[in-house]
Amino acid sequence: MDLGDSAAEAAFRAELRDWIEANCPDELRGGDARDQHAFEAASRRWLGTLARAGYAGVTWPVRCGGQGLSQVYGAIVLEELARSAAPPHIGLVGLNMCGPTLIAFGTEEQQGRHLPQLLTGEEIWCQGFSEPGAGSDLAALRMRADFRGDRIVLNGQKVWSSFAHAADFCLLLARSDPESSGHRGLTMLILDMHAPGAEVRPIRQLTGEPEFNEIFLTGAELPAANVIGPVGEGWRVAMTTLLHERGTLGVALTAALEYNVARLVELACMADDDGRRAADDPLLRDRIARELIELAALRTTNLRALSNLVDSGVPGPEGSVVKLRWSEANRRVTALGQELLGVDGLLAGSDAPLGAFWQYQQLRSLGNTIEAGTSEVLRGIVAERVLGLPRSR
Ligand SMILES: Cc1cc2nc3c(=O)[nH]c(=O)nc-3n(C[C@H](O)[C@H](O)[C@H](O)COP(=O)(O)OP(=O)(O)OC[C@H]3O[C@@H](n4cnc5c(N)ncnc54)[C@H](O)[C@@H]3O)c2cc1C
Repeated sequence: MDLGDSAAEAAFRAELRDWIEANCPDELRGGDARDQHAFEAASRRWLGTLARAGYAGVTWPVRCGGQGLSQVYGAIVLEELARSAAPPHIGLVGLNMCGPTLIAFGTEEQQGRHLPQLLTGEEIWCQGFSEPGAGSDLAALRMRADFRGDRIVLNGQKVWSSFAHAADFCLLLARSDPESSGHRGLTMLILDMHAPGAEVRPIRQLTGEPEFNEIFLTGAELPAANVIGPVGEGWRVAMTTLLHERGTLGVALTAALEYNVARLVELACMADDDGRRAADDPLLRDRIARELIELAALRTTNLRALSNLVDSGVPGPEGSVVKLRWSEANRRVTALGQELLGVDGLLAGSDAPLGAFWQYQQLRSLGNTIEAGTSEVLRGIVAERVLGLPRSR
């Protein structure tokens, strides 16, 4: 089996790499702490630049504004962007989750209205699934969607919604059958975030950034035409969204980890005033070697996932394995970076002698083991769906 790029894929990768080098704004690179407002504006422009060059939604059908390329090309784009240390852009939730959901279940009108603006970043999307009391157990959600003629009225609360403060639309899962419980009676909706009755309250994270939000809906209305997929079958639609969240991001996550490990090696090889290097310590070299081995395992698991995806067209459970192992490795790697900095790791912003890369990355890495499924929940998925162990409940 040939695990390398074909000639056409290698040419696409080389062209993209040059293009990123020439076009990605410096202020977006690096992964340090950042000014949220300036970052969001630059990130929105960056998505537009990517889209104009044809590098946004490359796997989407041509009729939906994509290039109709195979998942291998989608993986190459994600990988090269992560390798160049270009940060996740503000349209990530829209491009990777909401767009594919609309392509799978949306009507022609919904696709025509939303996909072009979503591709260019002119309209930003957020995902409104989690609620207080319904995170890992998403089917416990209670947000009410009452159908009144050709209108739907929403009441309830969502939480942890990334980029909701900047979003124009929300992919929202709500309970349309008040008598139902669990997976039944849920419906997927498109909510205009500027509708009266929709209030967004940012939550400040450990990094200091208000990247995610609470959404309060009090009598917010939307047209019945904004239902995605069949009424009452929102769970099936949501599973497609979540498969895309974990399914194709593995290569980007792995490439981002590769970047962090390379910076860790650089840091370990820096000599102090007495000419000593952390890398001279064999125990430390062992710890870094362990992360390089983990990276190799992640890369091969990604290739297995990609090959299954190309064959079946549907992301498989390997995405959960990669998300679990990547998020835990990233926590270890960033903690090790902090350890090497010693007391300098306590300083942030312009006071930090080597910039605040490790400080920021370590704080942000803690959320990685919670978002898109906590490590405990992912272990349960791997146990039941990959290893075939008996169900725990
Ligand atoms: C940075 C970040 C961004 C996010 N962005 C979004 C977003 O854009 N949209 C959105 O809808 N949500 C988003 N989330 C929410 C995320 O999906 C939830 O936080 C996650 O699913 C966990 O749910 P919870 O926080 O309610 O924790 P809970 O589900 O209450 O879990 C609490 C603890 O119990 C454990 N636990 C729960 N169930 C089990 C089980 N069956 N087996 C073993 N242990 C279990 C968990 O592992 C955890 O340690 C985001 C979260 C983060 C951190």
